[in-house]
Amino acid sequence: MADNNVVWHGLSVSKDERCDLNKQKPCLIWFTGLSGSGKSTIANALDRWLYDNGYHTYLLDGDNVRHGLNKDLGFSDEDRVENIRRVGEVSKLFVDAGVITLSAFISPFKSERKIVKDMFDDSEYLEVFINTPLSVCEERDPKGLYAKARKGEIKQFTGIDSEYESPDSPDIAIDTSIDSVGDAVSSIVQLLKARKILKSVL
Ligand code: ADP
Repeated sequence: MADNNVVWHGLSVSKDERCDLNKQKPCLIWFTGLSGSGKSTIANALDRWLYDNGYHTYLLDGDNVRHGLNKDLGFSDEDRVENIRRVGEVSKLFVDAGVITLSAFISPFKSERKIVKDMFDDSEYLEVFINTPLSVCEERDPKGLYAKARKGEIKQFTGIDSEYESPDSPDIAIDTSIDSVGDAVSSIVQLLKARKILKSVL
């Protein structure tokens, strides 16, 4: 807890000034979905598209963040919520710096996603639900984690013995058993253009 002697220091360069310098409107694009659903793959492909088209971006990825900032956290419900809270705060710093920020985290609980959403203006937050069926994620099993979870070698694995609460009203939902990576990127780019985060004509 911040104590009463910690006082917020106003910054001399404003967020608007940073956005003007970057010539873009920042936002947080939050990817949620089961392990293996395709969050990292699509977020990376979108990041590449944005970079190639001249946008300033950064991608925060669940596994990478757990190697550093959040390496002290496990997978209990409490630690998962703290994991996401910290990532929300870091995402907010990036958006404040004028950067289009992509965050790919399972983020299985509605309550934790709401904590992050509530940190942002509605115009600066988009929730992308990678809604790939569990059976497809398990069949892909890119990291061999479902097999371990089924054998009981990993406990509290989302979709197996820990719940995934689907978003009620995501900004966009993508089923990667139907859509290709390219289709998914195009759909998100269209949405970003419709929200005026990206210019309609590049
Ligand atoms: P997550 O980040 O959700 O855990 P990953 O992106 O790490 O998921 O893994 C998804 C796996 O599914 C990758 O091996 C990827 O190549 C594969 N895959 C197959 N088809 C698609 C698709 N249309 N979109 C995204 N990933 C796909």
